[in-house]
Amino acid sequence: MSNAVNQTLSYRDLQQRDLQDVLASKRQAFLLPENSIYLDGNSLGAMPKAAAERAQQVLLTEWAEDLIKSWNSHNWIDLPLQVGNKIGRLIGAADGQVICCDSTSVNLFKVLASAMLMQPGRSVVLSQAGNFPTDLYMVEGLASLLGSQHCQLQLVEDSALEQAITTDVAVMLLTQVDFRSGRLLDMQHLTQLAHANGVLVIWDLAHSAGALPIELDNCEVDFAVGCGYKYLNGGPGAPAFLYAAKRHHAALCQPLSGWMGHSNPFSFNHRYEKSADIKQFLTGTPPVLSMSVLDTALDVFHDVDMTQLRDKSLALSRNFAQLVAQHDCLQDLALITPLTDQQRGSQLAYQHPDAYALCQALIKQGVIADFRAPNILRLGFTPLYLRFIDMWTAVEILADIVRTAEYKKAEYAVKQKVT
Ligand SMILES: *Cc1c(COP(=O)(O)O)cnc(C)c1O
Repeated sequence: MSNAVNQTLSYRDLQQRDLQDVLASKRQAFLLPENSIYLDGNSLGAMPKAAAERAQQVLLTEWAEDLIKSWNSHNWIDLPLQVGNKIGRLIGAADGQVICCDSTSVNLFKVLASAMLMQPGRSVVLSQAGNFPTDLYMVEGLASLLGSQHCQLQLVEDSALEQAITTDVAVMLLTQVDFRSGRLLDMQHLTQLAHANGVLVIWDLAHSAGALPIELDNCEVDFAVGCGYKYLNGGPGAPAFLYAAKRHHAALCQPLSGWMGHSNPFSFNHRYEKSADIKQFLTGTPPVLSMSVLDTALDVFHDVDMTQLRDKSLALSRNFAQLVAQHDCLQDLALITPLTDQQRGSQLAYQHPDAYALCQALIKQGVIADFRAPNILRLGFTPLYLRFIDMWTAVEILADIVRTAEYKKAEYAVKQKVT
């Protein structure tokens, strides 16, 4: 980058970056509301235009006209594996190891239970104290089912992770990019350390899949899970995915053994016999409507170089942080995201006592961000549809809201159900 850190960043610099942006044309693939800057693609990705066409096609042709024949003629039955393989290409997984199904929470339960059964004599699930709550709740649920002698959760701060990886641990469950702080963990290093102690690893890729290059196979990761509706742009409630390394497929035994995970579902055999491949992680009938939409949404990535995407993501957040630092009125915003590239995902998190009101005022002015309790203003940077000049506009609006004390108006203090 041409800009040294302490050189002032101008609107013209950002315009220049847009002109040089190799991903600039990708913005055309999305339908974005006018007069708004969407900094929440880490929570719900924007809609690819082709997704709407696919939904129409599935509804009006595949369902309305072809009805049940579509399971074969439109390959509905193959969607979980087809979509899984598409996601696999974005996360460094060779074909046949990723399957699209259920929600991230349910998938976590399946891989966690499978992993625990592979570790007889060990009971500890090691995770981050600041992990996304659903991940921890799912461990608690499994612990109450298996009993604490077989499953117990150990939580540590990120800084204490390495020392906590011991031969007592059965499974290490980590989220690669922290949903609050945006801190990125070193997957390769932590996975190696775990394996050296006989620990199996599960990575939650909710805030990293589609946002940065991931090398699951090269890092020899055991299991992973992630969301379809965040950086993969699959739409609200899109099905999630899970990864299980091929070397484990034969030994695995996942407890939600529904008919779709059977080696031959249409034999209607009364005895369960698991599928030998990744399909053993399926439980019930795939949600064809939403999975088809995700399938098409993923095509936006087909010619995207994830290294270029990562470069742009880092540049967007670096520029945003610099613009915030250039405004005296924004000095009460405390950045808790590491500014070191190797330690940052695709978001920035600022602490501020009135973070909720700031966020509401921003949304009112067309800058869509989100708030995470207790005091975090969170901004996500999605390189496929954000421009560098959007960083400028968003920070100008933020500065205006603070300078004029707009955010102190009573209307911005009203809490909504979803923040
Ligand atoms: C968003 C997110 C989830 C969401 O789980 P769902 O079951 O899809 O609701 C899980 N884990 C992490 C780390 C997340 O950020």
